[in-house]
Amino acid sequence: MSGISIFMYHQVGTFRDIRTHRASYCDVGRFRAQMNTLRRLRVPVISMSDAALALSGQAPMPRRAAVLTFDDGCRNFRENALPILEEFGFPSIVYAIAGMVGGTADWLADAGHATPPLMNWDELRDLQQRGVEIGSHSLHHIRLAELSPVGQLAEMADSKALLEDGLGREVRHMCYPYGSYNSDSMRAAARAGYMTGVTCVRGAASPGFDPMALPRKAISYGDDRFGFMWKLFMKDAPKSGKIASGKPL
Ligand SMILES: [Zn+2]
Repeated sequence: MSGISIFMYHQVGTFRDIRTHRASYCDVGRFRAQMNTLRRLRVPVISMSDAALALSGQAPMPRRAAVLTFDDGCRNFRENALPILEEFGFPSIVYAIAGMVGGTADWLADAGHATPPLMNWDELRDLQQRGVEIGSHSLHHIRLAELSPVGQLAEMADSKALLEDGLGREVRHMCYPYGSYNSDSMRAAARAGYMTGVTCVRGAASPGFDPMALPRKAISYGDDRFGFMWKLFMKDAPKSGKIASGKPL
């Protein structure tokens, strides 16, 4: 394992019959086993902001490390993942959709999936108090690469401003919905003032990568502790642009 493994999660809980979009779901028992694996292997779990500093050369690069990211801001993060993260003392980042805070994950209906509630402002502020970083997952959860450069900038800058108003703290990190991004997205994220932008390109992050297009490792519903370990030690080779296992939602 080299570089920083930025793990991508969406929902954590108990689910049945997950046959498609498996990277959008993680069984809570498996999640605990995965956290246990990180602890047993003594892999430092660091915050996205600390990872950004290391990747940009402003802090020493750890020999190995992991970052835990959670897309969408579903309430089941708070109910199922947070207690385990707190038990292990691991930092994490939740990417919230600024224009849908307190709503439901309506876009999942298009894929025939249930639409879980999204955390509201009080819940996000509480997470922040408890040490969870909050990043932006755009304003409307749309495919950014389908927008004009101006439209992309609005999604990224307006979501940042809205989240900062609601949370009272700087929002430093961007996550492109559906992993949809292009060079305009990277420029817009930098212009909007983000430190990083994360994608669904598979691999570990290393210094020298563009901070506005950091690869991640998607954890799939089917990943037991061996699957997780395989992903942990997976080489940092995102050059193929291969999308992580199971299409994210
Ligand atoms: Zn999403």
